[in-house]
Amino acid sequence: MKADFQVGIIGAGFGGLVAALRLQKENRNSFVIFERASEVGGTWRDNVYPGCACDVPSHLYSFADELNPNWSRAFSKQPEILEYIKLVAEKHNLRNKIRFNTDIVGLKFIEEHGLWEITDQHGIITQVKLVISATGPLNRPNTPKFEGMELFQGKVFHSAEWDKNYDLNGKRVAVIGTGASSIQIVPNIAPIVGQLTVFQRTAAWVQMRPDHAFSGFAKGLFKTAPAINKLYREMIYWRNEFFGKAFVGNETINRIGSKLSLRHLSKQVSDPETRRKLTPNYKMGCKRVLVSNDYYPAFNRLNVTLETTSIQEWNAKGIITADGRQHDFDAIVLATGFVAAEIELYTTISGLNNRDLLSEWRQTGAQAYRGTTVSGFPNLAFILGPNTGLGHNSVVHMMESQMNYLVDYLKLLENQGPNGYLDVKADVQAKHNQQLQTQFEGTVWQSGCQSWYLNREGKNTTLYPRLTAQFRKELRHLDEGAYELVG
Ligand code: NAP
Repeated sequence: MKADFQVGIIGAGFGGLVAALRLQKENRNSFVIFERASEVGGTWRDNVYPGCACDVPSHLYSFADELNPNWSRAFSKQPEILEYIKLVAEKHNLRNKIRFNTDIVGLKFIEEHGLWEITDQHGIITQVKLVISATGPLNRPNTPKFEGMELFQGKVFHSAEWDKNYDLNGKRVAVIGTGASSIQIVPNIAPIVGQLTVFQRTAAWVQMRPDHAFSGFAKGLFKTAPAINKLYREMIYWRNEFFGKAFVGNETINRIGSKLSLRHLSKQVSDPETRRKLTPNYKMGCKRVLVSNDYYPAFNRLNVTLETTSIQEWNAKGIITADGRQHDFDAIVLATGFVAAEIELYTTISGLNNRDLLSEWRQTGAQAYRGTTVSGFPNLAFILGPNTGLGHNSVVHMMESQMNYLVDYLKLLENQGPNGYLDVKADVQAKHNQQLQTQFEGTVWQSGCQSWYLNREGKNTTLYPRLTAQFRKELRHLDEGAYELVG
């Protein structure tokens, strides 16, 4: 039986487009992309909060074959990143490969024909040989349930669902959370709101952000000499890999990094009590290290308060903290992150013998082979699947590593004939995950802190435990022996 397309990609964010660009490059044009929204861009389309920017330098956080000489800054803001993604999609005529406004509601593997049936919300079924699921790990807002939350009379929204129509000017605003999103929001709304209270549960490690604008000369140079652009990108990449060692066991680099961060704090915050509250009490890197030059100074403003007493409940007027104080607000921003390690899939995924991926992962924690394929679910691959996240470098590099692997996968799949499939062996996957978990030993992520990297059982199902160069090496080629080849 012939499938409608060789490949079905789910998601038109960075991951889906990385997959599509690589397939095109390999001259594999039989693919379709399903996108639930009406535009490309994924997280860079959805997150529009004030100050939203990438904390990985733009020259690195871009498609390897579509380097952009025109980045205006070292760390570009969300509108520029989204514009870049749109331009790349247009340049490569990817828009007509995308089915926009299409929600996938079912994925079913048909063993007899070695293909997947993809069902959308209209009941339309598309058959493909390989599904590449690229829906991203950080798109389910974590909305904590505070007691009395429903009583609050003011405005509430999550950082990832920013209401641009709500005017914050002069308002009394609370921001709950002090992660990567919050530290961008806080300094950007502080100058316009009347009063801002930042509720911090755990202080973050914050590093200086080496941001700067690119001059016309620099942009011209990147344009006329792409080799310089590439070299610059390589330099950023290897610098990040070097500092990444601080997370995977190099105590010296970790100590130096921690000192630099504390110096950054003491230079930027004048009040000793506020400084004390902002000083982290866990090892640097255990939670994501943040980069900002304007977060700390926001606490020097008279209209900004750092609140470290925990939230007891909400009421009609605002928030009551555990010490019984009432804090009145017009608006409360939940910068409370995303649900990443707790598994929820965007659709049912039914593999061999009707195995259900969600129920299996709920028992074991999310796991895959090399973060990409899953035993019992042949011809299915995840871009940024379990244990492929990073705390130190560009995830686009990880996605592109995965596509190296998947190009080989497709070739081998073709060799199995029209009804063939490739299923990673269960014992290979189990051994791989056992080894992967032992690689966390000695890393900062096992130094004892709570973070979105860990699931409820405390297992790290989100991060890759080593440096990205190692991941690239491991996924350079498909390891055929790991797979059951069914033809
Ligand atoms: P996050 O890092 O998970 O931060 C969530 C914050 O909310 C934390 O400070 C957390 O406190 C707090 N929080 C959660 N539940 C709470 C509760 N019930 N009561 C009080 N406080 C609570 O989320 P995020 O800032 O949205 O960032 C998530 C990830 O998205 C980042 O790590 C990063 O990978 C990505 N991101 C990247 C960029 C970028 O520039 N590239 C920008 C934004 C986000 P605790 O620390 O105590 O848990």
